[in-house]
Amino acid sequence: MSAYQRPASVAEAVAILRDTPGAIVLAGGTDLVIDRRLGRVDPDAPLVDVSAIDELAGVRWDGDVLHVGAATAISDIERDPGIISRAPALSEAARVLGSVQIRNMATLGGNLCNASPAADMTPPLLAHDAVVVVYGPDGVREQAVISLFTGPRGTSLAAGELVVGTRLRIPARSGSCYVRQTVRWAMDLAGVGAAAWVLAGGAGSDAPIEAARVALGAVAPTAVLVPGVDHLLVGHPLSAERLAAVREAASAACAPISDVRGTAEYRRHVAGVLAARALSIAHARATGVWPGGPAPVNGRISSAGVGQHRAHRGQRDTTDASARPGTLA
Ligand SMILES: Cc1cc2nc3c(=O)[nH]c(=O)nc-3n(C[C@H](O)[C@H](O)[C@H](O)COP(=O)(O)OP(=O)(O)OC[C@H]3O[C@@H](n4cnc5c(N)ncnc54)[C@H](O)[C@@H]3O)c2cc1C
Repeated sequence: MSAYQRPASVAEAVAILRDTPGAIVLAGGTDLVIDRRLGRVDPDAPLVDVSAIDELAGVRWDGDVLHVGAATAISDIERDPGIISRAPALSEAARVLGSVQIRNMATLGGNLCNASPAADMTPPLLAHDAVVVVYGPDGVREQAVISLFTGPRGTSLAAGELVVGTRLRIPARSGSCYVRQTVRWAMDLAGVGAAAWVLAGGAGSDAPIEAARVALGAVAPTAVLVPGVDHLLVGHPLSAERLAAVREAASAACAPISDVRGTAEYRRHVAGVLAARALSIAHARATGVWPGGPAPVNGRISSAGVGQHRAHRGQRDTTDASARPGTLA
C-alpha cells in the first residue's frame, strides 16, 4: 500500500489496519506529527488517516446516553450545547485544551489514544465512568476508559484496533466539573487536572449524594480514579468534613513526578485542593444550586475574562462567548 491512506468508513479503516503491519492511525495529527518529527514513532510507518470517516465524528444523544465519536474535534465538544449543560466536565476540559487552532484539529480519540498522563479529556471521562468502543480485526468490543491506559503513552489496544467512540450515561440530578492547574495561562499541559461527577438524591445543597467519582490527571503514570470516594460520600450531604476527607483521599491517590510543572509534593497538595473544588461544583450542579456558567480556569478568572485576557495580548478570541455565560471569580 501507499504510505498514506484516507478510508471513508470504519470497516475500510479496520481492513487497512489489519492488512498493513505497522500502520498508524492519524486523526488530527497534533500529537502524531510532532512524535514523527521527534522520532518517537517510526517516521516511515504507513498512515491511516481517519479524518474523512463521517461515522467517527459527532455528538449524539440516545435518551440519557451520550455518544461522542472518536474523530470529534475538541472544539465541537467545547461548544456542544448538550455537553455544556449535561456533561460540563467534558466541555470544561475541552475549552482549556491547547489553543483554538489545536482544538479545531485535535480529536477526542487522539487525546485518549496518545495516553498522556496529563491529557485533559481523560479525567472527565473517568469521572463519568465512560466506556470506550473499539473496532478491530475481531469485531467490536467495549472497555471501561480506565482500562485503556497501561502507562505513559501506553494503551491496551491491540494491533489493528481503532477506537470509534465513547459512551457515557448522564442521568437526571447528576452534575460534573473539570478544573486544572497550569503554570502558564495558556498553551500549557495540566500540572494537575481534576474531574468530579455526582449523582444527587434531590435538589438543594442538603440533598444526599447517591453516587460520586473523582478522577485526577498528571499526578501518576496514568489518570487515576480516586478510591473510596463513594464510601466517603454516599448517603450524606456534602459537608466541609466530607470535602476534607475527599481532599485527603485525592492527595493520597497521587504518585506524581517532579518536573518543570511542579514538584511531586506540590502536585499532591494541588490534587487535593482541585479534587475538592471539582467535587463541590459538581455537587452544586447536581443539586441545582450552581448559579450557571463554567468552572473557573486556574481558579481565578471568569469565562468572560478568557476572551478579555486573550484580547489584551493581541490574540483574536474566536470562541463563542454566548455559549459560556456567567462569571466566577
Ligand atoms: C501546542 C499544543 C498544545 C497542546 N495542548 C494540550 C492540552 O492543553 N491538553 C491536552 O490534553 N493535550 C494537548 N495537546 C496534545 C494534543 O493536541 C491532544 O492530545 C489531541 O487531542 C490529540 O488528538 P489528535 O486527533 O491530534 O491525535 P493524533 O495526533 O492524530 O493521534 C494521537 C495518537 O492517537 C492515535 N489515535 C488517534 N485516533 C485514534 C483512534 N480513533 N483509534 C486508535 N488510535 C488513535 C494515533 O495513532 C496517535 O498515536 C497539545 C498539543 C499541541 C501541539
